[in-house]
Amino acid sequence: MRDFFKGVRRRIGKLDAEQLREQYRIISEEAEFLETLFSTNSDGIIVLDEKGAPMRANPAARELLGMAVADALKWLEVPLGAASRRELAVSYPQARTLEVRTLPLKSRTLVYLRDITAEKARGEEELRLGATKAVRDLAAGVAHEIANPLNAISLNLQLLEREHPGDGSIVACREQIARLDTILRGFLQALRPTRPVLAPGNIADPLKNCLETMKRQFEDRCIRVVLDVPAALPGVAIDKAQFEQVYFNLLKNALEAIPDGGKIEIAVSSDDNDAIVEIADNGQGIAPDQLAHLFEPYRTTKDKGTGLGLMISARIVRDHGGTISAASRLGEGTVFTIRIPRIERRIRTLA
Ligand code: ADP
Ligand code: MG
Repeated sequence: MRDFFKGVRRRIGKLDAEQLREQYRIISEEAEFLETLFSTNSDGIIVLDEKGAPMRANPAARELLGMAVADALKWLEVPLGAASRRELAVSYPQARTLEVRTLPLKSRTLVYLRDITAEKARGEEELRLGATKAVRDLAAGVAHEIANPLNAISLNLQLLEREHPGDGSIVACREQIARLDTILRGFLQALRPTRPVLAPGNIADPLKNCLETMKRQFEDRCIRVVLDVPAALPGVAIDKAQFEQVYFNLLKNALEAIPDGGKIEIAVSSDDNDAIVEIADNGQGIAPDQLAHLFEPYRTTKDKGTGLGLMISARIVRDHGGTISAASRLGEGTVFTIRIPRIERRIRTLA
């Protein structure tokens, strides 16, 4: 553009009316183009004359400042003819943080406004996460410290119990310690999740292991477990030990929700994308308002519950790239559905 003007200036004396009209057309088109750039820019731009009066301002400047530019300039106190940068909190039309920069441009001053609310929020979020991590590390450290003496007490109680078999208070102590131990372990796991070690396998193997270890508990309460596993299952990338824990948590909840003689139905299946496990019980069910927060930590309706089982299970499933969901009817029962992607579907394009 500069070269263009230089050329026109050099030749202007020799141009006839037609040629002048042509040059004028080029210039006005260019000016229109620049005007469009100026007025559609999402950053605010204000041009001040040497006295600080606004010569031009684009719509974004008015929008970001939430008032007429001339009014805003009264309290903006921009330094004239100097480069500067500062941040500004604006509460109308919306709470946001603006970056205000000035640039001297010959006798004028250019004021440049940019919305940096999101950038700032990100920075603060990072700080907050850092603080959360420090607290979590501390809590995990304390939990760890408590676990050791607890273990020692438990061992000593076992010795005492051998000397005084059938002593009710010793049994009560041991039960309370076992409970503390469960809480601590859940707490530690919630704070310090371990990454799954994935290996090719199928979704039903850890389920069978888990059912085997829980067999006595089902039998003692006359609970019927119906297991439906197809002969062929798709391969999934799975950490078997972690998935055993997921099944344990879900089956234990089911056990606690159903009366003696109740029923648990487990169906394993697959579709084009996922291997699927559904665990259904005919227990008391879950109220709709509780269902909405089911996988959040410390949500328990049980006297001796920790409210961590489902949260840990959900995280393990998520770490496998899968999903877990629950459907329930009060008084009728609950179905938990776990899906994990088939190995060949682990990479999916997002729409
Ligand atoms: P906890 O079992 O220690 O309470 P969980 O995270 O395992 O913690 O479960 C949270 C809550 O979800 C339970 O207290 C219970 O109210 C509800 N819940 C979970 N599974 C079932 C189920 N199968 N039937 C009814 N309620 C359930
Ligand atoms: Mg539980």
